Amino acid sequence: MPKRNDLEQKALHYVVGTGYQGVLQSDLWRELGASSREGSRVSIKLEEKGLIRREKELQEGRWTYRLYPKRLPASIETIVDCPCLLCPDNARCDPTTALSPKSCPKLTDWILNLGKPPAPAATDSEGQTASAPEPSIPEDDSVAESLDT
Ligand code: SF4
Repeated sequence: MPKRNDLEQKALHYVVGTGYQGVLQSDLWRELGASSREGSRVSIKLEEKGLIRREKELQEGRWTYRLYPKRLPASIETIVDCPCLLCPDNARCDPTTALSPKSCPKLTDWILNLGKPPAPAATDSEGQTASAPEPSIPEDDSVAESLDT
């Protein structure tokens, strides 16, 4: 039988890997090769440490728990649409100047909409999905020059 701390680490790692979907307690112990009794002890321990959340769930007529991680590791997908990444003013933006993230409406909107589902695609009068306008690309090097200064 694995040591309890090893089992806690493995269990936590597995639960974190299930993300928002979580995992049934019984499936987790089967996966880790632990007994349900040992598994219950470990999941209670992880919950007491504030590392996971347990929610009661009825499965095939029996009550069990679904385990969710309380924290998920950050991923690149969480910032891929941050307006700063493609902002032409990025090089000049600074919290100590007038052009500042503290007062940027684009950044504020992005932060306020974090976690919300994306807005549905706009449709025209014939029900066709309208495509997003193409970004305008200047013909000259004015943007690049403004970033060099
Ligand atoms: S905070 Fe605003 S102005 Fe500054 S880089 Fe981000 S989007 Fe651009």
